Amino acid sequence: MSTWPQWLPLREELAPMSAYGAPQVEADASLNTNENPFSPSPELVKAIAARVTEIGSRLNRYPDREATELRTSLANYINSQSATSIDISNVWAANGSNEIIQSIFLAFGRKSALGFTPSYSMHPLIAKVTATPWIDGTRRKDFTLDCDAAASQIESLRPTLTFITTPNNPTGSALLISEIEMLARSTQLVGGLLVIDEAYAEFSSEKSAITLIEKFPNVVVIRTMSKAFAFAGARVGYLVAHPSVIDAMRLVRLPYHLSALTQVAASAALEFSDELLATVQGLIAAREDLASELSALGLEVIPSCSNFLLFSGFKRASADVWKDLLDKGVLIRDVGLEGYLRVTIGNGAENKKFLMAIKEVLNK
Ligand SMILES: *Cc1c(COP(=O)(O)O)cnc(C)c1O
Repeated sequence: MSTWPQWLPLREELAPMSAYGAPQVEADASLNTNENPFSPSPELVKAIAARVTEIGSRLNRYPDREATELRTSLANYINSQSATSIDISNVWAANGSNEIIQSIFLAFGRKSALGFTPSYSMHPLIAKVTATPWIDGTRRKDFTLDCDAAASQIESLRPTLTFITTPNNPTGSALLISEIEMLARSTQLVGGLLVIDEAYAEFSSEKSAITLIEKFPNVVVIRTMSKAFAFAGARVGYLVAHPSVIDAMRLVRLPYHLSALTQVAASAALEFSDELLATVQGLIAAREDLASELSALGLEVIPSCSNFLLFSGFKRASADVWKDLLDKGVLIRDVGLEGYLRVTIGNGAENKKFLMAIKEVLNK
């Protein structure tokens, strides 16, 4: 726990907190933050450079506050992926989906927020920072979500915001669209929003919750370019929802929040979406291979619809296994669940390095 100087008028509820973040340490294989391991192609890099050069002489001016080109491109991308007919009025973009989550709390964090742990730890963390009471809902012992139980929790607790991550992080399991529809109905019944974090949607074959927005205006879907889209460094996340939700985002965003550089880089990347997503099928195949290899070593692997695997079955503390892997140059994630570790699917060489290292570490 950090000790703050007496003279510092820090908000009381922040004092016991420490700064969040996965360790950013050098490793031969960095398999800890679920990025796509494949770099943008030289053609895309060139396209981004050309767009940046083009706007360079206008950087004395503020950017388009409405990010019109980018939001239009995002709407087209969603429609091509999900056979929907959304438009720019349904889309908001920001510096990573974490900023989107923060804006949701700033706009709608009225009474309380409910989520089902273990899930993405930034949801409760941003709730805390924005002073919205957070309620930890329950899952089954195997971490799957019992949607009937979740619906009853929503109806009795009546939260303003209910968070669902699908595919879930850190488990990788996805909900069926019929289950999400049931939760949409429950949240609608209590006058709340259902926030679906679909950071890993492109790795899953389940229908996106974006298809529910027309029927349920209280459904809000968060997406990101950081994972499947191989664009984490640019920091672009987006939200798809009813136009009234987008209007509320305008109330809480900072002026000109999305830089002109980010806007043109992301617009250029969306023109290469086929190319950027071409690696997704290969990563899914590698995920299945790696899952069987880990099972063959006697480990238990949770079936994943994402680009990572959560596994357990160690004969000693998972934190020690994590450290031994790092000593061998392989950085994976200790997500704070005793007995479990999470590994991101990397490129062929990284996956091989991880497998060799885990074999050695298990035999230690
Ligand atoms: C990685 C991740 C994000 C992060 O998104 P950014 O767009 O990079 O801010 C959001 N939600 C979940 C569930 C994630 O795992």
